Amino acid sequence: MQILVTGGAGYIGSHTCICLLEQGHDVIVIDNLSNSHQQALSRVEKITGKKLTFYQEDILHQTVLERIFNTHTIDAVIHFAGLKAVGESTQIPLQYYHNNITGSLVLLEVMQQYQVKNLVFSSSATVYGDPKQLPITEDFPTSANNPYGRSKLLIEEVCRDIYHADPLWNIALLRYFNPIGAHHSGQIGEDPQGIPNNLLPYIAQVAVGKRESLSIFGNDYATCDGTGVRDYIHVMDLAEGHSKALDKLQTQPGLVVYNLGTGKGYSVLEVLHAFEQVAKKAIPYHIVARRAGDIAACYADPHLAKKELGWIAKRDLHDMVSDTWHWQIHNPQGYI
Ligand code: NAD
Ligand code: UDP
Repeated sequence: MQILVTGGAGYIGSHTCICLLEQGHDVIVIDNLSNSHQQALSRVEKITGKKLTFYQEDILHQTVLERIFNTHTIDAVIHFAGLKAVGESTQIPLQYYHNNITGSLVLLEVMQQYQVKNLVFSSSATVYGDPKQLPITEDFPTSANNPYGRSKLLIEEVCRDIYHADPLWNIALLRYFNPIGAHHSGQIGEDPQGIPNNLLPYIAQVAVGKRESLSIFGNDYATCDGTGVRDYIHVMDLAEGHSKALDKLQTQPGLVVYNLGTGKGYSVLEVLHAFEQVAKKAIPYHIVARRAGDIAACYADPHLAKKELGWIAKRDLHDMVSDTWHWQIHNPQGYI
């Protein structure tokens, strides 16, 4: 199949491109490189020994999208492109709404125009807000308390409306839990700009000597050791989930929603200690106040994806932290 991957140069997109190329798909990437490097795609080609087509363009530009849909006979779209920093979204909400929501509307409009009705959309566990109980199943109530989360929820709702208006659409809304890790080659990985917001890149940068100490945001949560618990999932497992979702779309399921998580939660301290074992060094940390908006614990019930997609996360916490470390030591400055 010919798959258009928006945001394909980014962290999850680049890893997914590997799976798609290895499965024999033709991959067309559109990315404006606002949060990524073209080098990621060159490395994807090197890892797979296969070529992809890259457009350094913005999904907000309808005429550009039309040109791409005219040039290629696209079978399905995997839509990763978006801004993703929760904190930043509270400071520049309009940019988040414009990029994420308007960008998606333009993309959907062009898909409709060209009768391309197969879509996999990157949603997030953030749409569950502060869940009343755990683990989280797909039918839990959704909510959002920041512009980033609201943009994801709104796009989910737009997708539902499109499907209700025209049941020929097939849409998989994939709600990711906490993607970490890197391709085992150490060639591609997560390369955040500036100070990392997320736990794993921060730990990795402390371990490699780029930053002094990890700030742990609170140790007074009602969890095993007081630090926050999350469902970390290896980015290659997540990537494979997208291939499975594409296979599912071929069966014309209509609109489907899946959690992509492992079903297992780890605390900040557990992740830190796992990293220390792999890096064979102590990682300095200190406890600071809770981060605004954080919840105590969050982990998926991944059974629906297992049942309907035949997908399950295969890699464990050790694989996740060792692949992160492998990427970090081989690329201490990220892509340069
Ligand atoms: P990323 O920032 O690495 O990748 C997103 C890519 O989209 C980047 O390469 C960026 O340059 C590109 N992009 C942004 N706006 C664009 C536009 N208007 N036109 C073209 N390209 C544009 O992020 P990621 O971690 O790979 O996340 C991919 C998707 O998954 C995002 O939609 C994100 O919200 C979602 N998601 C991520 C996480 C996570 O923790 N990483 C969790 C849940 C959901
Ligand atoms: N965290 C932390 N220090 C950091 C970054 C994150 O203690 O520098 C904690 C955070 O409070 C949460 C967990 O690590 O409990 C995962 O945070 P991350 O930002 O990676 O993902 P989130 O689940 O918040 O999207």
